[in-house]
Amino acid sequence: MNMQVFARRESEVRGYCRSFPAVFARSKGAELWDEQGRRYIDFFAGAGALNYGHNPEPLKGALLEYLTGDNITHALDLHTQAKRELLEELERTVLTPRGLDYKVQFPGPTGTNAVEAALKLARKVTGRTGIASFTNAFHGMTLGSLAVTGNQGKRQGAGVPVDPSNLLPFCGYFGPEVDSLAQFEALLEDTSSGFDVPAAVVVETVQAEGGINVASADWLQKLRALTTRHDILLIVDDIQVGCGRTGTFFSFEEAGIVPDIVCLSKSLSGYGLPLSLVLLKPELDVWAPGEHNGTFRGHNPAFVTATAALRVYWKDDSLTREVQRKGAIIREELETIAKRHPDELGEVRGRGMILGVECTPEVAARATREAFRRGLMIETAGTNDQVLKVLCPLVIDDALLREGLTILAAAIDAAVQAGGERDSASAAE
Ligand SMILES: *Cc1c(COP(=O)(O)O)cnc(C)c1O
Repeated sequence: MNMQVFARRESEVRGYCRSFPAVFARSKGAELWDEQGRRYIDFFAGAGALNYGHNPEPLKGALLEYLTGDNITHALDLHTQAKRELLEELERTVLTPRGLDYKVQFPGPTGTNAVEAALKLARKVTGRTGIASFTNAFHGMTLGSLAVTGNQGKRQGAGVPVDPSNLLPFCGYFGPEVDSLAQFEALLEDTSSGFDVPAAVVVETVQAEGGINVASADWLQKLRALTTRHDILLIVDDIQVGCGRTGTFFSFEEAGIVPDIVCLSKSLSGYGLPLSLVLLKPELDVWAPGEHNGTFRGHNPAFVTATAALRVYWKDDSLTREVQRKGAIIREELETIAKRHPDELGEVRGRGMILGVECTPEVAARATREAFRRGLMIETAGTNDQVLKVLCPLVIDDALLREGLTILAAAIDAAVQAGGERDSASAAE
C-alpha cells in the first residue's frame, strides 16, 4: 500500500489514520473500501457525522441536481433559495412539531464554531463571563471550546491557559449517592464560595468523547430548573448526539427540557458536508448585524443535503423507532460479550445508538486493532480511551449490524486472550 506521502508530508497531528491504516477509496451506507478493495464495516460513522451513512442516495440526488444546475455554492450569509428551503424545512419538520421557538444562527461550518458562537452570545446576553461545564466534557478544539472541555491533554495543547472557569461534576461522577446539582446550587447561593454565577452552563446529554456518560432525564430536568432559578442560560451541545443518535431528533427530548441555546453540527448536513447551527431563544437574539461573522457560513450544498435529510429521514417517527430497535440489539450483544469477560470488561452504557462498553485500556486498544484487521472500524472514548464506542450509521441494515457485532465479539475475545497469554508468559518468567 502506498502511504509514504502521508508519513513524509502530513503533519504529525494526524490521528484517526493511525488507528485505521488504509487508504480509503469508496464508501456506501455503513461500509467503506480501501484502494485494495478491502471492505470495512463502519462502527465509527465519522465520529457521528454520518448518521445516515456514507453517500445516502436521496441526498446525493439532491446535491448532484443542485451542483449541475449551477446553483449558488458560496454566499457568506446572503439570502439564497437553498437557505430558505432549509429554514422552512427546519420549522416544518423539527421546530413546530416539537413546540420549539428558536431563532437560527449560522456560524462557521464546524462544531466548535457553533460552541464558540453560543458562549459568546451567552456572555453578551448576561454580561457575565464564566461558563460552567462538566467533568469529561468535550466541546471542540478552539480556545473557547477548550476552556469548557475536561480533557487535560487537549486543553494543554492550547499553549495558553484554558482552565475550565467553573467545572462541575457530571451526572453520577461521584457515584449515584452524590447529588452533584445540590452541591452546584449550594456554591451558587454562598457569596463566599468563590463560585461566581456563570453566564451559562454547557452540557452534553450523553458525553460521547468523554466515555459515553449518560445524564439521566431526572438530572437534566433538575439542571434545567436550577439554571432557570438562577437566571443562568442552559446550552445543550447536541453536536454528536443530536440528529437522531439517541432516537429522537434532539437528545434532550426524552427529558422534556427546553434549552436556551442548542448547538448542532456533525450529522446536520446528512452527507458529511460541514454545517453547523446555533438555535437560540428569540429573546436572546441580541446580536448586532455582523457582530459574529465567518466566510463559510453559507455552505449552500450543505443546506441542500440538510434539507433533504430532514425530508427523507424525519417525515415520520420510523427512524426513531429503528434507532431504539437496533440500539437494543447492540446493547444485548455488548452485554453478552461483557459477561463472557467479567475481569476485563465492565459496564455497558449509552442511549439509542451511541453505546459503549467499559474495558481495561489495554483490551480496548487491542480490540480496535483486532477489529480493524477483521474489517471493522470502531473507536474508543473516555479518559484513558478505555470505552469501546459503537457508533454505526443509524440506517445500517440488520445483516451488516449483526456481522459487525460478530466481528467485534471476535476482536474482543482475541484482545482478552492476547492479554491472558502475555500475563501467563510474564508470570512464567
Ligand atoms: C465533535 C464535537 C464538537 C466539535 O466539533 P468539530 O466539528 O470537531 O469542531 C463539539 N462538541 C461535541 C459534543 C462534539 O462531539
